Amino acid sequence: MRLSRYFLPLLKETPSEAQIVSHQLMLRAGMIRQEGAGIYAWLPLGFRVLKKIERIVREEQDRAGAVEMLMPTIQQAELWRESGRYDAYGKEMLRIKDRGEREMLYGPTNEEMITEIFRAGIRSYKDLPKLLYHIQWKFRDEIRPRFGVMRGREFLMKDAYSFDFDEAGARRSYNRMFVAYLRTFARMGLTSIPMRAETGPIGGDLSHEFIILADTGESAVYCDRRLLELPVPGADTDFEGDLQPIIDRYTSYYAATDEKHDAAAFEKQIAEADRIAARGIEVGHIFYFGTKYSEPMRAHVTGPDGKERPVEMGSYGVGVSRLAGAIIEAHHDEAGCKWPVPVAPFHVGLVNLKAGDAGTDDACERLYAALEREGVETLYDDTGARPGEKFARMDLIGLPYQLIVGPRGLENGVVEIKRRADGAREELAPEAAAEKLV
Ligand code: ATP
Ligand code: MG
Ligand code: MG
Ligand code: MG
Repeated sequence: MRLSRYFLPLLKETPSEAQIVSHQLMLRAGMIRQEGAGIYAWLPLGFRVLKKIERIVREEQDRAGAVEMLMPTIQQAELWRESGRYDAYGKEMLRIKDRGEREMLYGPTNEEMITEIFRAGIRSYKDLPKLLYHIQWKFRDEIRPRFGVMRGREFLMKDAYSFDFDEAGARRSYNRMFVAYLRTFARMGLTSIPMRAETGPIGGDLSHEFIILADTGESAVYCDRRLLELPVPGADTDFEGDLQPIIDRYTSYYAATDEKHDAAAFEKQIAEADRIAARGIEVGHIFYFGTKYSEPMRAHVTGPDGKERPVEMGSYGVGVSRLAGAIIEAHHDEAGCKWPVPVAPFHVGLVNLKAGDAGTDDACERLYAALEREGVETLYDDTGARPGEKFARMDLIGLPYQLIVGPRGLENGVVEIKRRADGAREELAPEAAAEKLV
């Protein structure tokens, strides 16, 4: 992509409404634009990051055995009356009426709808288990939308739903998502910590929030430092096999959110040096809730004994759009973003230090063509801006590598690669540089 044709509206000043660094940087780097309180347009650079995050989430859901589908954003109030949540949900739900005065809503989550879909298609234990997911926009009329995409009102979520015959099966589904989440966040350069979380009025002890430690996080969290060092399950993990040992290992260490925190147990179980009392960002939440929806909504399956019973369910959310902010919180410096390779909007920023100079243009064009040919996502700064401005904006948008080409270097037969993560620089011949970036 040539910068001269791209749409990258950078901001010079830090917008005063942005209180945390990820929000500031997303606005300054031209990734998002606010269109209403908690409602954002994803500009081209931000959209590329969002798509990369979404792709990783999808790959790991698929690997874990979940099946993708797509449900609508608009739902019927009727469905939510069946579960009893239409009145209970309160002001966070955006309620709408159509021209026929029918009550509708913009979905804040999809337990009711997926239960309705399930009960229409599945009748027998023989058709279980099922694990379905979609990646779709949600709307929650948050009291205080803030921190940019971290707490939006409209936001993108991956939500999965499991259906099993009994509790043992439901736990296996839960374990699949537990492991998938560890892998998903690790692939984005994040260390996620599964923490015991509140299950709400239904009871039971099976709910974990996946937390990224960050000073700007909205949750107070408590955990054992040793959790940060645990190995993340590999891509070769057998999701059809027994995942319980992985879950047992992770859950053997103390980790709890504020609501579940037990100060006495925290101090008893962890040596002082390993105690972490910090702030965190909730990027995922998994939940086993049994028959909470299947019972009132009569999503029943017949067992081997011929008797009907409500299906056992769980739900599993990932904050896809929130992750864009969370990743920046974890990877930035004073100059801007430092995107981990798997979620970077482009892999390389090609910087032409003297656009209009025939030799420099020519060298850049050749490098650009070579990188594009190899499928290396490249943003080519072919504009007439001064070098200082070009360096500053490349640092701001934070692509993993900068390939810097100027007349002085070319005289000596070299170009420069700068790695954004640590600022390491290397001079080498243009062909060698292109090869290195493939
Ligand atoms: P929070 O505690 O931050 O309000 P939640 O517990 O209400 O989140 P869930 O219902 O568990 O959210 O939804 C699943 C995931 O969706 C969350 O873990 C979070 O990553 C994401 N999410 C929830 N609300 C928002 C929001 N307002 N903006 C962006 N992402 C959100
Ligand atoms: Mg909430
Ligand atoms: Mg929460
Ligand atoms: Mg939650």
